[in-house]
Amino acid sequence: MTETLNLKPGQIKGTSGIWEMVIGLEIHAQISSKSKLFSGASASFGSDANSSVSLVDAAMPGMLPVINKFCVEQAVKTGLALNAKINNISVFDRKNYFYADLPQGYQISQFTKPIVGEGEIIIDLDSENQTVVGIERLHLEQDAGKSLHDQHPTKSFIDLNRTGVALMEIVSKPDIRSPQEAGAYVKKIRSILRYIGACDGNMEEGSLRADCNVSVRRPGDEFGTRCEIKNLNSIRFIIQAIQSEAERQVDIIESGGKINQETRLFDTSTGETRSMRSKEDAHDYRYFPDPDLLPLEFSNEWVAEIKETLPELPDSLKKRLIKDFGITPYDASVLVEEKEYTDFYIKAANGVDGKLTANWMITELFGALKKENLTLENSPVSPENLGKLVGLISKGIISGKIAKDVFSEMMISKKSPAEIVREKGLEQVSDDKEILKLIDKVILENQEKVKDYLGGKDKLFGFFVGQVMKLSQGKANPGLVNKLLKENLK
Ligand code: ADP
Ligand code: MG
Repeated sequence: MTETLNLKPGQIKGTSGIWEMVIGLEIHAQISSKSKLFSGASASFGSDANSSVSLVDAAMPGMLPVINKFCVEQAVKTGLALNAKINNISVFDRKNYFYADLPQGYQISQFTKPIVGEGEIIIDLDSENQTVVGIERLHLEQDAGKSLHDQHPTKSFIDLNRTGVALMEIVSKPDIRSPQEAGAYVKKIRSILRYIGACDGNMEEGSLRADCNVSVRRPGDEFGTRCEIKNLNSIRFIIQAIQSEAERQVDIIESGGKINQETRLFDTSTGETRSMRSKEDAHDYRYFPDPDLLPLEFSNEWVAEIKETLPELPDSLKKRLIKDFGITPYDASVLVEEKEYTDFYIKAANGVDGKLTANWMITELFGALKKENLTLENSPVSPENLGKLVGLISKGIISGKIAKDVFSEMMISKKSPAEIVREKGLEQVSDDKEILKLIDKVILENQEKVKDYLGGKDKLFGFFVGQVMKLSQGKANPGLVNKLLKENLK
């Protein structure tokens, strides 16, 4: 039904015209805390089933939750990094529902008074465009346990290790207008969380997952009814799921149907969403303040102290890279995605051409690391050596083309680029006499073509350049080859 030709991202062409998407995200970020939100049990991932469960987590009668101060600090830190309002008084509520892996029969969360209120973040869409997405709130809550259905043919098992682990739920306003924007939004939140150390952002292990709310409308109309796609754990799936869900909704409306607010699951094998349950409203959960916990209160001074500990954040770092190194906003946004990228770049670009360094890092180095399944941390090419390679190119000692060979060698041998160039005799030939010798040879061997060229076939010039370069094994200075060929092909 849909076609994507000439459509802007987030637009869908139905049989009756153009539709646009409205998207809001709820991100669940697991706090990087050693212990759980209300108990001292370990919050680490991957331990034996039911080995990190305290009596509080198992909801034994009479057990009392005690708030983990470190987790509160991380929520405040995140709120500050999201330019959001910090609420000095917030309240924990019980969200009641039954689930086999929820022994309390309720989840402790925050409902009417969350710890963090409204904020906003800037997201980078491409080289020119940025947009702002509003944050509705951030609240603290417990994670639930896990039901294991694949351990026994007829029984399900329960693992309570995850029960009570601290989560921050970050709720966006419905400000997002395309799947790509949603992806960029999650990327930015993830980046900020990793900078401040509040969450490791590991989407594969589930430390960061998103529920995506999607509705469609005629451009400029009121919002339509939304469906929520639960628990997406990769940016690629987020983009796919939103696109396919919006197309499904357009199909339904155009064939005379109506969207029911419901919770849906994304099937990664079909690339489509399917219904999980009709959506509960808040009142179905019978929220009420948890009588075991006092309201959470802290002073402005304490918030100010936390603010002092914030590192420089990606937006500010980006501005600094653009200003100090003259690189494009887009390159800068890629380089600040992870703090390690920025640190590596600043070391590499020290004293050499910043733009060229950014190019080499983003295209060549990132490409090669990805191919070898390596991260920047265990990169065989050090920042210093990448900088030296850029220096050799800028000084004309090697050509950009030879530099690629040198770089491949650096990925294997960890040698410095100068060493490789010396060992393999790869210095660029910038000596007129040497190059003229090659030119003479090429002219001599291609008399026919020279005649054609002189007879007006200008396009053949590229052929002669190519031949000379080939003869020099790529080492001739291309600028000089051009110049000398022009002078000699007369
Ligand atoms: P719930 O817990 O019921 O899912 P929340 O307030 O936690 O409600 O989250 C609602 C999410 O849905 C927010 O991210 C919000 O931006 C988004 N949203 C609200 N209305 C719409 C709509 N019409 N279309 C798409 N997203 C919406
Ligand atoms: Mg929700």
